Amino acid sequence: MSSAQAAKEATPVIATWEVQQQLPKVAYGQGCYVIDQDGKRYIDGSGGPAVFSLGHSHPEVNAAIKDQLDRIAHGYRYTFSSDPLEELTAMIAESCASGGSGGLKHMTFCSSGSEAIESCLKIALQYHASLGKPERCRFIARERSWHGNTLGALSISGFLDRRAAFEGALAPASLLSPVNTYRPPDGVFPEDVAAFCAGELEREILRLGADKVAAFIFEPVVGAAGGCVPAPPGYAKRVREICDRYGVLMIADEVMCGAGRTGTWRALQHDGVEPDIMSVAKGLAGGYVPLSAAIYHDRLRGPMYQRFGGLLTGHTFSGHTLGCAAGVAVQKIIRRDNLLEKVRENGLLLKRMLSDALGDRPYVGDIRGRGYFLCVEIVADRATKEPYPRERMIYQKVNAQAFANGLICYPVGGNVDGKRGDIVIISPPYIATQEELVEIVEKLAKSLGQVM
Ligand code: PLP
Repeated sequence: MSSAQAAKEATPVIATWEVQQQLPKVAYGQGCYVIDQDGKRYIDGSGGPAVFSLGHSHPEVNAAIKDQLDRIAHGYRYTFSSDPLEELTAMIAESCASGGSGGLKHMTFCSSGSEAIESCLKIALQYHASLGKPERCRFIARERSWHGNTLGALSISGFLDRRAAFEGALAPASLLSPVNTYRPPDGVFPEDVAAFCAGELEREILRLGADKVAAFIFEPVVGAAGGCVPAPPGYAKRVREICDRYGVLMIADEVMCGAGRTGTWRALQHDGVEPDIMSVAKGLAGGYVPLSAAIYHDRLRGPMYQRFGGLLTGHTFSGHTLGCAAGVAVQKIIRRDNLLEKVRENGLLLKRMLSDALGDRPYVGDIRGRGYFLCVEIVADRATKEPYPRERMIYQKVNAQAFANGLICYPVGGNVDGKRGDIVIISPPYIATQEELVEIVEKLAKSLGQVM
């Protein structure tokens, strides 16, 4: 046996670092269903990782992508603009404006959520530098939040086990208490979470010195790291006031909760708040082509362009023509078919169905979320909210059982700090019918019953 062959046999092929097992091969998609190479059908109860807003193989999106591909795949940004790029830019600005955020009209496109976050951070830094304040370079974020895998985004992420191996190389950032009324900070009553957490932000700005702080970044509905946690009423408005008081920029990370997932195009629209900078990614082009954006307020543009002549960030694939064509097709269908309204209405129904099916089970601690962005938090003890020990790998067992039963959900393990249970995110495609929602809930209820 050659040494190359021996090495191949000795090293198992691991398809993903998280699942650590051989995965079935995907064959094709059909609306809310994914079919594997053996012909097994799975209902996509989570739209993958809350990505597939229009499900799979949507004929109109496919046609738009093929049409664009037949023309040209990409016009490089220093050489060409394109119709899809300009159309998508206008559509996003219009979606922001119709949701009360008319200032969010400028943007730069990227391929992943992490890249969009890096761009958001750089826009904040460049803005302060353009005002002659380059020392405003500290970021404040929250524990049990997730902003991405690249080093800048990881530096401001409060997902402890994903940071652990890289701590030494991360930029300094302040991580405040998570905003969660089911698990309030120690000694804080649920009804006081908004005031406490806003106050904590103000104290941290003052501790660092306001003239050192670039921005506060947060997820308006916390995704995978927290488990679909909407902020309590009034929190975002208080944060807006504090940011304004100290000249700190507000960055809304809507990579996961944005692009309509919670029933409004911007998740922060629900709180009646306009951020200075915002990211959007997963649902933007529905997962058909990688696409994300960092969007920024009109008032930031003038100083940046005057001082530096433009935005000092961008990638080879920024504004990718094929990606933008997919984005335009996805956004047009969402508008034409009134899918946001459907997500709002059916989201309430889905939450009720989950509560009816699972609410009484002793291991279900909380069912929460907004729109088609819902989560079941699993705990060992409902009264104390004690999570299961991490070694029990409850989330992986639920995932495996659900998968065996033909359901794709999005499970995340309990945090190493023991302050969150295992979570199962249910975030179906916006096109999911009520019958499909019933199937998702039935399969989840059955799978949990088999595991727990
Ligand atoms: N921000 C949030 C809120 C996310 O949920 C994610 C990914 O899950 C990211 C940023 C990073 O996005 P990506 O994985 O596309 O780099």
